Amino acid sequence: VTPDYVVSFRQNFPYFTKNPDSCYLDNAATTHICQPALDKINEYYSFQHATVHRSGHIAATENTNQFEAVRLQVAKWLNAEEKSNIVWTKGATEAANLVAHCLHHAFLQAGDEVIVSMTEHHASFVTWQQLALKYNFRLRIAPVDQHMKIDVDELKKLINKNTRVVVCCHVANATGVKQPIEKICQLVKAHANIISVVDGAQAINHIPVDVQSLGCDFYYFSAHKMYAGTGLGVLYTCSRVQEQLTPYQYGGEMVRSVSITRSEFNQAPFMFEAGTPNIASVYALSATLNFLDKQALTQLRTYEHELMQYLIAQLKQFPEIKIHGSEGFCGAVSFSLKDWHAYDVGEILAQMGVAVRTGKHCAMPLVDSINTNGTVRVSLAAYTLVEEIDKLINAVKQLREFL
Ligand code: PMP
Repeated sequence: VTPDYVVSFRQNFPYFTKNPDSCYLDNAATTHICQPALDKINEYYSFQHATVHRSGHIAATENTNQFEAVRLQVAKWLNAEEKSNIVWTKGATEAANLVAHCLHHAFLQAGDEVIVSMTEHHASFVTWQQLALKYNFRLRIAPVDQHMKIDVDELKKLINKNTRVVVCCHVANATGVKQPIEKICQLVKAHANIISVVDGAQAINHIPVDVQSLGCDFYYFSAHKMYAGTGLGVLYTCSRVQEQLTPYQYGGEMVRSVSITRSEFNQAPFMFEAGTPNIASVYALSATLNFLDKQALTQLRTYEHELMQYLIAQLKQFPEIKIHGSEGFCGAVSFSLKDWHAYDVGEILAQMGVAVRTGKHCAMPLVDSINTNGTVRVSLAAYTLVEEIDKLINAVKQLREFL
């Protein structure tokens, strides 16, 4: 049975109050939002709504101060060097695009090489692939081993004098497998002219992240995958590289002065934040962090880990199931059921009231190499109940008889 502290943690998520029987195992796609974040969004739009940075009136000034205070809060939470290392984006996807375009502009020439792992989400994969095609630099693919982990020795072999960037995820979204990102960042760090980019979208809700000890140059994630709202991404950019970048998008507040013939840009991070930001979602993220601070996070994370072990043990009892990967599952696990199409499995599970994600998980190169029928991904959060896993397992039992 689910421990009481998990049940009380779950009570902070109104979705479950309204849907007590839900079996929501699609947390890698998006998590539910916590009540404090919802309250903050409501408060902002109801009583506090005004812009940031632009206007000098009282409400706008108060918002600017609060908005910047959240930037500092997030910088501290990630152990970034400075507040200015944190750039707000619309999500991990926009962060991936921002990083790729800025790095291309500042550092890359035709003939240069970028290493992208085989297990990247399309947000990183397609972005770098398309830039490589357009600007004639070479995309090198770091393979995964049979455990679905990026093979660091193979990655090492790909590094040469033309390598400029290495892009890897912290946790792979298609398999849930934690990647040897510490080793990869250290490896990249040993080469002064190579930049490391880490996609943390699937890690942020499960692993404490310290960007300085990781030693990455960029780290990004979306707020909606960690109990906050949609439309907000956090991009950490290390000072050393940030200083050499120029803006990715143009518009309001990213400039200092504009004349008919030229524009002078604002300092970082503002030069990367053209247009009115998602103020409500920034506040919601702050409320979520404050809320999480008050929870017994270590205990909840241990529970989540044990729940994952339980889920895997349960899945392993079925000889038809093949789990993709063998260890290091972090928040998600992905499997195939014989040669059945993942969409059929997902459809039947949905009919039984079980919400999972099926298909290629925005990681087609990897999933096509595993199973062209796609996979079934089950993903957890700290509010996931043991009973939800049991419901899934019962559904799988019935499905086996059915199919
Ligand atoms: N990277 C990874 C690893 C992801 O799992 C996701 C979301 N599935 C993204 C990037 C993109 O995030 P978003 O859709 O919030 O921009």
